[in-house]
Amino acid sequence: MKVIVLGSGIIGTASAWFLNKSGHDVTVIDRQPGAAQETSFANGCQISVSHAEPWANPAAPMKVLKWLGKEDAPLLYRFRPEWLQWKWALNFLRECTPGRTNENIRQIVAICEYSRQTLVGLRAETGIQYDNLNRGILHFYTDQKEFDDSLPAAKLMRDLGCPRDSISTDEVIRIEPALARIRDKIVGGDFTANDESGDVYKFTSGLAQKSAEAGVNFKFNTTVTRLITEGAGASAKITGVEVITPEGRHEVLHADAYVLAMGSFSTALAKPLGIDLMIYPGKGYSATYTVTDPSAAPSVSLTDDGYKLVVSRLGDRLRVAGTCELNGYTRELNTARCEAITRRTRELFPDACDYDNPTYWTGLRPLTPSNVPYIGKTKFSNLFLNTGHGTLGWTMGCGSGRALADIVSGRQPEVNFRFTGMPYRPSDRIITPQSITA
Ligand SMILES: Cc1cc2nc3c(=O)[nH]c(=O)nc-3n(C[C@H](O)[C@H](O)[C@H](O)COP(=O)(O)OP(=O)(O)OC[C@H]3O[C@@H](n4cnc5c(N)ncnc54)[C@H](O)[C@@H]3O)c2cc1C
Repeated sequence: MKVIVLGSGIIGTASAWFLNKSGHDVTVIDRQPGAAQETSFANGCQISVSHAEPWANPAAPMKVLKWLGKEDAPLLYRFRPEWLQWKWALNFLRECTPGRTNENIRQIVAICEYSRQTLVGLRAETGIQYDNLNRGILHFYTDQKEFDDSLPAAKLMRDLGCPRDSISTDEVIRIEPALARIRDKIVGGDFTANDESGDVYKFTSGLAQKSAEAGVNFKFNTTVTRLITEGAGASAKITGVEVITPEGRHEVLHADAYVLAMGSFSTALAKPLGIDLMIYPGKGYSATYTVTDPSAAPSVSLTDDGYKLVVSRLGDRLRVAGTCELNGYTRELNTARCEAITRRTRELFPDACDYDNPTYWTGLRPLTPSNVPYIGKTKFSNLFLNTGHGTLGWTMGCGSGRALADIVSGRQPEVNFRFTGMPYRPSDRIITPQSITA
């Protein structure tokens, strides 16, 4: 079958790889000059299965209210005269009940764990080098209440099969000695030995390269403007995708099936087809510093709970990422937010990096209110979704691509997940390394 994948972030690229493996003739379209140049470019780089709690949880509404109007708040909601934003916010509130939160965590853990296993397999198969570290993720707390509140979440994760251990300050320092300087501020932590980190851009562009070598056709500098449809009801289908070519010509490309993987920009493409995707961009920041003293820099991926920042060591670079601003599709850098990241990183690891020459970046997380992505079918028989991976697109990416390729090929994916437009049978089956076919 001829398949066109729209978007070459981690989600589109992983989809293309597995579709090609399933024997399809695959073309990927992206407006950028290469793969992974938008949100999958400079994120926090954590493969974080065991911290799958969505932002929509019972404690979130009060926190968001407290942060309103604060320029350096971890989560900043700027109200706009925009229907999608308001509708999204209402849906977000709906997902904050304990029942919804628990169900969302279950879904997210399932796809994340499947994805991590898939990444491990891909790493072995392709040999892609991406500064990965398999030393776990250490989440440290500087607020006693936040630490106490994290204990039930840690237990839930353990119940779901994720080894997330709540640990003392001494253990935090033993696992990451570079934190010793702020020992007196740390009240505890949790450590998830199975989690990992690695450069999402290096991995995705490497996978795109391998996919191209295997026969996938990448059309870069090509902007998607419209999906063309035919028929109604059960016979409704997509007949083509209109693009603007690198030479500026409008062209229509045809395939048997189409996969929508354009992150935050999927919503606008789907809307004219009567498909209302509840995805809103959550602008996040990252700063990348050159490590000048490796012994003073962390070598375990960290989450600084108080500041909602993640820290990943990528070879001789340190990546620090976080914060979220719901304010439309702008990607401009806000100086207050950039400086807040550098201030905090310098406070944690004063001698580790060259803080005078940071590289700042922003990206738009494709956020669904629940943080559960859309993976599956639509009312158009040949249009498939793989989008809305929010805060965990790198963690979920490889598994989402593999599951989507199964769905397009008419197979049932191996993971027990609530796929869009497909029957779902809730089950307590936990994904374990043994339960997934290599
Ligand atoms: C600050 C920050 C930190 C993060 N940290 C982590 C982390 O530690 N771990 C984790 O798991 N996740 C993390 N994430 C989330 C993760 O980065 C995203 O979920 C993921 O990158 C989304 O991938 P995607 O392929 O859906 O979107 P994208 O990477 O944005 O890909 C979409 C592609 O579609 C293309 N496109 C869009 N519109 C068009 C069009 N009209 N025509 C043609 N092409 C188009 C774009 O060019 C782009 O290449 C973080 C995100 C941010 C912002």
